[in-house]
Amino acid sequence: MHYPEPIHANLGSFYLGKKTTFRVWAPLAEAVTVYLYERGDGGKLTERIPMEEKEDGIWELSVRRDLEGLYYTYAVLRGGVLKECQDPYSKAVGCNGNRTLICDLTKTDSVGFAKDRRVACKKQTDAILYELHVRDFTVSADSGFATKGKFLSFTEEKTKSPSGKKTGIGHLKELGVTHVHFLPIYDYASVDEDADYRAPGKQYNWGYDPKNYNVPEGSYSVDPYDGYSRVRELKQLVRTLHKNGIGVIMDVVYNHTFTTDGCFEITAPGYYYRMQDGQFTNGSGCGNEIASERPMVRKYIVESLCFLAKEYHLDGFRFDLMAVLDIETMNQIRERMDEIDPSIILYGEGWNGGPSSLYPEVAASKEHVDRLNRISVFDDVLRDGVKGDVFIKENPGFVNQPADGTYLTAKLKEAMAGMKTDPEKVIQYVSAHDNLTLWDKLALSAPKASEEERISMNMLAASMVLLSQGIPFMQAGEELLRSKQNPDGTFNENSYNAPDSVNAICWENKTKYEQVFRYYQGLIAFRKKHELLRLHSRAEVDRCMTFLSDEELGGAGNVIAYRLQDPSRKRGETILAYFNANTEAVTLPAPAGKWKVMIRDRKAGCQTLAKLKQKSKELTIPAISCMVLVSG
Ligand code: CA
Repeated sequence: MHYPEPIHANLGSFYLGKKTTFRVWAPLAEAVTVYLYERGDGGKLTERIPMEEKEDGIWELSVRRDLEGLYYTYAVLRGGVLKECQDPYSKAVGCNGNRTLICDLTKTDSVGFAKDRRVACKKQTDAILYELHVRDFTVSADSGFATKGKFLSFTEEKTKSPSGKKTGIGHLKELGVTHVHFLPIYDYASVDEDADYRAPGKQYNWGYDPKNYNVPEGSYSVDPYDGYSRVRELKQLVRTLHKNGIGVIMDVVYNHTFTTDGCFEITAPGYYYRMQDGQFTNGSGCGNEIASERPMVRKYIVESLCFLAKEYHLDGFRFDLMAVLDIETMNQIRERMDEIDPSIILYGEGWNGGPSSLYPEVAASKEHVDRLNRISVFDDVLRDGVKGDVFIKENPGFVNQPADGTYLTAKLKEAMAGMKTDPEKVIQYVSAHDNLTLWDKLALSAPKASEEERISMNMLAASMVLLSQGIPFMQAGEELLRSKQNPDGTFNENSYNAPDSVNAICWENKTKYEQVFRYYQGLIAFRKKHELLRLHSRAEVDRCMTFLSDEELGGAGNVIAYRLQDPSRKRGETILAYFNANTEAVTLPAPAGKWKVMIRDRKAGCQTLAKLKQKSKELTIPAISCMVLVSG
């Protein structure tokens, strides 16, 4: 099939007061008609206005009267079959996203939004990412939020738990993370917005099933029937987080759509998705995969991201199953984001969800990280090495398997040094929304350990993430020993549609496990204070980071230790970090010189805990713990 590819066409609908222009790419259509509706769902079809065919498969219509507030669809005729859909370039939609709002988006900017700015982030390794779901974070009875599970929840700045601990935005500030990464907040299909409005809270979904990429999700708005509501409220969320110094990252899923029976396939059949032998291929594991390498799809993705970044002042994007997308598209995205703001952070999962029909040579996979321009990938080596394989529940890693030998520690050293690439291209983490929470994983992989030992394991794991080269990332609630427990007591490793009872963050844990929270807070503060922990290039790591030899460790097994020092700075500090996975304390040869102990046992932060005597011969690292010394 030949498709004309007008990549410079300006597609969508454009409201200009007394005139609205509609432009859609429908290269195989025999006729396209704009259907005008009074409402976003239901209500009357008031008018059918035929579009005019222009060159390169573009259909166009201008209506010279004020249509603002009406909704429309395109009715596309092909082979005698008429199919109706929303505009693929929709920026606002009605309930459940089936009709596009003819809108004036300037109406959605709240007071102060024009002055709103992205958070300052000089280099990507300065970021500390916190991954959360709108609902999980705000919905529990002990969250202190008046509005639960909505974009507007994030305009409440002073929420507290019953025992008086800060929750929500106050908690994020206290913890010290720089960016919040939201699980899907674009319009997804799996929650019925109409039913959700009538019976709130009965449905739950992570939202990895895109319907309208350029529109916020309706079930997070207070009024999904009013196309402006969700747009306005997401902007209020961004504004409030920015005011509090926190950046907003959007999880985007350009690898597949909820259904192939939607606006892409209706307007340009056979174009947007990869196919083989007449079948949709399944690189996403969700039934279809988007053909990012085709010019009109690439255009769509790039323009979508530019729109979202500019309209909502977003600070970054996380790409789901990024290896389904191609390298060229990703690099074009980087280029266009740099034109908007070079501080915009881009990262993704460097793998597929199923067998993709994209040539592996051009896939934006973690193997090709060096061909991606300032786009980071998740480091599954650190993730699995620190606490065990995500796919084998009982499998332990470094912190929970002191019996293991040199293979694991060798792999972990490579990971902690930034996976042989620029650290700014590596996302370091041990838990995310997928798979078991860190705390649940430790319960299953270290069943004989006491709760106190597992707390130590959790803390050691956190130290390995926050003291590695790369960009640290954590799942919301990891710092509160978050668990996702089913009613039968088993742990939920795929809670995408589980109820609040499984997914909601329990804020009272902040009181119960205050020491754990303080430790994460201390690690973050320490990381922020020491530039050497945030190196951005491979060359810097090669110059500044060395791992201690077996001899320097006195032959102790299950201990990883590194030294950070910049030889190009004569008076620069030296950082020595030890990670002891043994269930007993280990005594090592003490380093020569004067040292301040900054992190030890269950304490971390920027206060000196002790000074190491210059004549000490030995250094004792407590069981299952991290210890950090700073010169001077
Ligand atoms: Ca939706």
